[in-house]
Amino acid sequence: MIKGKNAIVTGSTSGIGLAIAHSLAAEGCNILLNGFADKAAITALVAELTKTYNVRVDYSPADMSKPADIADMIAMCDRMFGSTDILVNNAGIQFTAPVDQFPTDKWDAIIAINLSAAFHAIKAALPGMQKRKYGRIVNIASVHGLVASVNKAAYVAAKHGLVGLTKVVAIENGENNITCNAICPGWVHTPLVQKQIDDNAKAQGVSPEDATRKMLDKQAIKQFNKPEQIGGVVVFLCSDTAATMTGTPVIIDGGWTAE
Ligand code: NAD
Repeated sequence: MIKGKNAIVTGSTSGIGLAIAHSLAAEGCNILLNGFADKAAITALVAELTKTYNVRVDYSPADMSKPADIADMIAMCDRMFGSTDILVNNAGIQFTAPVDQFPTDKWDAIIAINLSAAFHAIKAALPGMQKRKYGRIVNIASVHGLVASVNKAAYVAAKHGLVGLTKVVAIENGENNITCNAICPGWVHTPLVQKQIDDNAKAQGVSPEDATRKMLDKQAIKQFNKPEQIGGVVVFLCSDTAATMTGTPVIIDGGWTAE
């Protein structure tokens, strides 16, 4: 159903974004990768995806904290592939500290990368989508777009903002065959979460296994959500089955927010 569409996945050199790139490429989408990694790793990734899925794959080095880079990334996709049909705003970072001790530069970076980057990318991609009367925008939010946890002021604020942005983009573009949805995952085992496991283990003086068990206590299903499951939900949201689903936060959190 989405074979031949052109997709950008921000932050796709690692974790959830990489899994989303695989899932969309497996459906026949051309992929513009983005994110940080060394040159050899990026070259290998482009070659692997191209060969495995027989689609066109390229890479944008855009830094999601820089609006001009983000506009260049959309322009690059339009230039290389002919259009930007699917935009997945996934790049994100984390930092934890109590509000009164939260470093201002970390607040600014999290708001820029986890929230403002999605605004800049959507703003740059929408005119083309509106002209072609087709667009699928998926914002990777978090359960923290719906509920809070201690020590995550910037992350929770950014993800709540991203869910709000998702709804506005959805209602402004309902007549243009453009949908905009958010995905709200619980814990997914990626480098971003491994750092939290290590930090918690250190702070609590326990093993990484015990720190992991405590973190997973938030979920009814006490196992990590898998990156490829998030990829599958992105494919679903881009499919015809979900053509009238818009402005929705799709929760995949092992029951975290059900309680
Ligand atoms: P990750 O650290 O594995 O991947 C983050 C990606 O973003 C990497 O490719 C990195 O290079 C890229 N990135 C970071 N800063 C960037 C910048 N300035 N410009 C361009 N790219 C940048 O993390 P992940 O766990 O895969 O997280 C992906 C998204 O999923 C994030 O938005 C995160 O908030 C969200 N999320 C993660 C979890 C989880 O449990 N892992 C849960 C809910 C939501």
